[in-house]
Amino acid sequence: MMKAGFYIHIPFCLKKCGYCDFYSTQAEPGQITAFLHACADEIELYREHPVFSQVEFQTLYLGGGTPSLLSARQINELIEELDKNFSFENDFEFTIEANPETISLEKLKAYRAIGINRISIGIQSFSDAELKILDRVHSASQAVKSIEWAFQAGFENINLDLIFAIPGQTLSQWQDNLKKAIVFSPQHISVYGLTIEPGTAMDQQINTRQIEKVAEEIEREMYLWNIASLRAAGYEQYEISNFSQPGCECRHNQMYWNGSPYLGIGPSAHSFWERHRQWNVASIHEYSGTASQGKKPIRESEELSATQTMLEFIYLSLRTAQGIDTHQFEQQFQISFMKKFHHTLETLNCLVQEQLFLYDTNRLKLTAPGFVLFDEICQLFANEI
Ligand code: SF4
Repeated sequence: MMKAGFYIHIPFCLKKCGYCDFYSTQAEPGQITAFLHACADEIELYREHPVFSQVEFQTLYLGGGTPSLLSARQINELIEELDKNFSFENDFEFTIEANPETISLEKLKAYRAIGINRISIGIQSFSDAELKILDRVHSASQAVKSIEWAFQAGFENINLDLIFAIPGQTLSQWQDNLKKAIVFSPQHISVYGLTIEPGTAMDQQINTRQIEKVAEEIEREMYLWNIASLRAAGYEQYEISNFSQPGCECRHNQMYWNGSPYLGIGPSAHSFWERHRQWNVASIHEYSGTASQGKKPIRESEELSATQTMLEFIYLSLRTAQGIDTHQFEQQFQISFMKKFHHTLETLNCLVQEQLFLYDTNRLKLTAPGFVLFDEICQLFANEI
């Protein structure tokens, strides 16, 4: 049976963070209940779907937004709806994204009791001053407490999300953050360099010189330090920003990178199968209105061309430590990878000598320090396609 991933976007947050460009909103009274009904309506619309009615889902991921604003009882309503309509593997990975300001030990225990077996906590920083720059609601002490509670509640698969290159942050301040995370020995750590998204409040602050971006060389140094220190602490880097203890990789994210089908429910959620990609409206009102009328709340969809599919294969594979499986490429696209990208591979020879890029049997991959060149290398492949 084909495997797939399931994503539900919970679009509510207590307050918008200054750097965020995900779709989220502050919940009005009664809006969460109405949203859960709309989700149930949308889920039912995929019951007879030619692909998703035939797959066994390996993962369920509640992302957002702040899914931990929901109680275990509310999440259980969603699970019951999913159980009625789809097939899930026995030991499927069930992740919730949680923010420190919205959880308590009791809530986390209740999450465990309904089968949530992985928690991804949006820590971002252990410094109050940095959390303030990020415009986060929680404090450093709440961040620490939330991790302790996650362990106490019995979670055995915990991810901590951290952000580096926060305006004003020095290398040693960042190192201090990552060291604090490692002390907890979570199974998984994600480290993201801060991206200043156009149109966000933080973008405005940068443009008006209220705060300053971290210099590129420092950000690069931070990234290389992440790799060295996480490796020394026993974590394996399996993707540009993701590190885990052996065997604790996030199965859901791996499905995105290996081209598996996934179904996304909720406002702004994306879905993908075969060559088809679609995404939902990014408005809670439009979403709920459309789904409750029995219509799919799709904003847009596209069929990827053969060239786009090939490029996606390359981009997604190069993000991972596994790299590009040239044998799989040849089977999927009926063309020799080496011949197709002859010039790019010649150009990349110098990176091989510098140990930034590796050719193995049927594998081409970036080495850990080579990941900093990800964008440039993708561009080389795109130019030759
Ligand atoms: S908590 Fe997450 S989703 Fe919500 S506004 Fe902040 S960064 Fe965005």
